[in-house]
Amino acid sequence: MASLLLVVAAGSGSRLGRPEPKALVPLAGRPLLSWTLDAFAPVGFARTVVTAPPDRVVEFARIAGAGVRVVAGGETRSASVRRGFEALAAADGDVVAVHDAARPFLSADEIRAVLRAAEEAGASIAATAVVDTIKKVAGGRILQTVDRSGLFGAATPQAFRADLLRRALASGQDATDEAALCEALGIPVAVVPVSRLSFKITTPDDLELAEAILDRRQR
Ligand code: C5P
Repeated sequence: MASLLLVVAAGSGSRLGRPEPKALVPLAGRPLLSWTLDAFAPVGFARTVVTAPPDRVVEFARIAGAGVRVVAGGETRSASVRRGFEALAAADGDVVAVHDAARPFLSADEIRAVLRAAEEAGASIAATAVVDTIKKVAGGRILQTVDRSGLFGAATPQAFRADLLRRALASGQDATDEAALCEALGIPVAVVPVSRLSFKITTPDDLELAEAILDRRQR
């Protein structure tokens, strides 16, 4: 049994308002993708695949470095995961971790905990408990306050026994994470609480926060 890593990085990052794909946005002088791959390096994966925008495969491969295979992603996140998963050529008993390139701050211990949970339960995700009071809103007005107990924000990595992920992806559905595809098939998914530093860099203020975190760590 091997642990394999798929980093999805084929998104455009249009919400960041930058010309380059999100994974190439510089953070403390290095591309976001480099920070994210560095976070996973201490864990030791047998194979790593990165999905890139189709016109950027060569550039991403140069940044990812030796030992990482870069393949063209698809139109949607699920399409990118399908392509990346194929390139990993996983055997049934392998555990595959799927991670957003846009989440550079997972600790090695958190990543290991998600892998362990997938080895035990078959499927697992990193997630953070919701801390804000949640409002359902329409037309700028509150419709309802949602009970936040038991609510978590799904993060990544999400790890799966390869046979389960293969089944989930074969459904052909699109989803914003792979756990949702498993849930639709009734596959139980374990939840591993992680730090809120697992946030996904999505908007310009996320980038500012990430710069501040790295600045503090480098001092
Ligand atoms: O768009 P969103 O922030 O939800 O994307 C999450 C992750 O999925 C990002 O790391 C992004 O690069 C990746 N993605 C992808 N292929 C797409 C869309 C998103 O690999 N077509």
